[in-house]
Amino acid sequence: MSSNIRSVRGFSDTLPPITATWQALEARLRRILDVYGYQEIRLPQVEKTELFSRSIGEVTDIVEKEMYTFEDRNGDSLTLRPEGTAGCVRACLEHGLLHNQQPRLWYAGAMFRHERPQKGRLRQFHQIGAEVFGLTGPDIDAEMILMTARMLAAIGLDDVELQINSLGTPAARQAYREALVAHLSGYSEQLDADSQRRLQTNPLRILDSKIPETQALLNDAPTLDEYLDQESRDHFAELRRRLDAVGQAYVVNPRLVRGLDYYGRTVFEWVTHRLGAQGTVCAGGRYDGVVEQLGGRPTPAIGFAMGLERLVALIEDNEGLVNTPQADVYLVLLGDAAELEGLRLAEKLRSDLPELRLLMHCGGGSFKSQFKRADRSGARLALVLADQELADGTVGLKDLREGGEQQAHPVDAVVHVLARQLGLTTHSED
Ligand code: ATP
Ligand code: MG
Repeated sequence: MSSNIRSVRGFSDTLPPITATWQALEARLRRILDVYGYQEIRLPQVEKTELFSRSIGEVTDIVEKEMYTFEDRNGDSLTLRPEGTAGCVRACLEHGLLHNQQPRLWYAGAMFRHERPQKGRLRQFHQIGAEVFGLTGPDIDAEMILMTARMLAAIGLDDVELQINSLGTPAARQAYREALVAHLSGYSEQLDADSQRRLQTNPLRILDSKIPETQALLNDAPTLDEYLDQESRDHFAELRRRLDAVGQAYVVNPRLVRGLDYYGRTVFEWVTHRLGAQGTVCAGGRYDGVVEQLGGRPTPAIGFAMGLERLVALIEDNEGLVNTPQADVYLVLLGDAAELEGLRLAEKLRSDLPELRLLMHCGGGSFKSQFKRADRSGARLALVLADQELADGTVGLKDLREGGEQQAHPVDAVVHVLARQLGLTTHSED
């Protein structure tokens, strides 16, 4: 006997009924993006490897050790996208979307990172993200953050904390980097191995370390805000003034640096305490240098991405956004003649009641076994067609949840009976 093929580690299936939660979640997030004037952009899942090394940064976790990189049959080095921003910038440049325009764009889809799989951390995961180009002021930063607040509220999450910080200009970060290295060099043996390496390559990333001993060593390290340039200070103060003006709560976290090199000035995260070390459900910030780095004219930009698996996990804790049964009505059919008449009835109902969620029994079987399936489907009502109903020109209707006797309705009345009971609009009333 051959063994079953299993899915690849870190690549998971999403099964019904949780797929209904995903659909509701995505629909609500999309709705908020739409009302804020963001338009969808669809991007490929595979890009040239160089796109990511040039934008995300050579010495980041993603580029150093998390990318799914392979040679295709032509020998080109390609990579499954680990995030959406680089591809979005590439597409905007390729199609001239940044000329005299300030596009507000969103995307959704699968991302790929070769990380150690655990709760809230997969190798294929899904993000909804947004990017805005061509705007440099704190006005768009504030509006974008408030939009993410509304997105999280739309899916019922009210216990996530907004953290913000400013990373300043590249010069400010350079000055800070030197101070941080000078401080941490005194403790280098006490740092974890990754952080020791980063001390040479990318010291700011040490602030982002998830290792408690390393975090403890950072307690009396210098902080970035002491090194910020005046313009970045003003920009950040203006952002805060705007968030204060609309009553948006936030925490300034001076250690918030983000794992990607391309950020500067405003960075923000939405964090929950309910998912352990995988607590960030939304992360974003300014990346004013990236467009130029990828060959475009200097263009300010800001964006964010939400991790959908983490959002779904939080919603599951909250008993879900939706509790949709498989159907509202189950059609029970006994006998050959009833099957044929039932198919006709089903098609007529689907035309007259376009929103009706009707599950027609297939595969025959006794009343008893059909009612068992009807029950399992979660449907509220059963329609019944058998010899008796065919002879009388009626259809049986039974309430599966409230109980009670089955009632006979003339075939022609069924549309209106269902419309009334389920609160549906008939096609002719549209
Ligand atoms: P983390 O610090 O948790 O590794 P990150 O800084 O690498 O996150 P980003 O690149 O900013 O994450 O991605 C934005 C969001 O995408 C994260 O906040 C998270 O919700 C989600 N995300 C990132 N990596 C994964 C993953 N491997 N599995 C599931 N979700 C992820
Ligand atoms: Mg990561």
